[in-house]
Amino acid sequence: MSFYFSVASGSSGNCAVWRAGSTSLLIDLGVSVRALGSALREIDMKIEDLSAVLLTHEHADHIKGLATFVKKYDIPVYATFGTAAAILQKLPQAEKNLCLFAGGEQFEIGGLSVRSMPIPHDAAEPVAYRIDGGGHQLGYVTDVGFLPERIQDAICGCDTVVLESNHDVEMLRTGPYPMYLKQRIRGKYGHLSNEDCARGAVAAAQAGTKHVVLAHLSDKNNSPLTALRCTQQALDGMDCELYVAPRGAMEQPLVLTPGEGTQCSLFD
Ligand SMILES: [Zn+2]
Ligand SMILES: [Zn+2]
Repeated sequence: MSFYFSVASGSSGNCAVWRAGSTSLLIDLGVSVRALGSALREIDMKIEDLSAVLLTHEHADHIKGLATFVKKYDIPVYATFGTAAAILQKLPQAEKNLCLFAGGEQFEIGGLSVRSMPIPHDAAEPVAYRIDGGGHQLGYVTDVGFLPERIQDAICGCDTVVLESNHDVEMLRTGPYPMYLKQRIRGKYGHLSNEDCARGAVAAAQAGTKHVVLAHLSDKNNSPLTALRCTQQALDGMDCELYVAPRGAMEQPLVLTPGEGTQCSLFD
């Protein structure tokens, strides 16, 4: 049984479960351990069932629950050398859990092949992931200023792709953020716009992707409907289902079962 479960997505916290075969990986830990525990209960899982945690980078919205997590659990936490160094400055007690790798390295966890890919984002050594195994392939790409071709190529052929759809360019331009923040978000090391996401989704769908999950939506500079519309229009007529990862699991659960459609979609 394979599935993707979005625990939280967006600037206030990011966390998702990918289960393939008998291995369950948590991608990012941007929610409290308590919130993670109750989200997992919704899908009849508990934290102890997780095989490992994969971190994309050290920004607070991706590691919020880490301090409590390492205190309570011995589950391995995978991070690049750069991400780990940034985390250890503030959280030396995380060292016992950390498994280090260099961005771009490929490794195995519980029979799944995990490929990391360096991404353009303003963090120490951020990565996206491609996870193969158990008959499924996941591409997980958030917190990217733009989508380099090598990332697009790397997620080619994944049945499920989680892709950042952070902001609507016009909403960002006219929105409440101060100029320096607008420039950071728009910049090459910031976040992916809906339009860039739509282009990425089309390329993925052309390469065979059947499920695209729009993730890391800004709550000030985007809306689920705006993001959906933008990529839906671009995907017009293609054989690819589109979803939005909800801000919190409890709001509207998204559990995707590749090959079998959604068990419980955003609009249930
Ligand atoms: Zn970030
Ligand atoms: Zn983020």
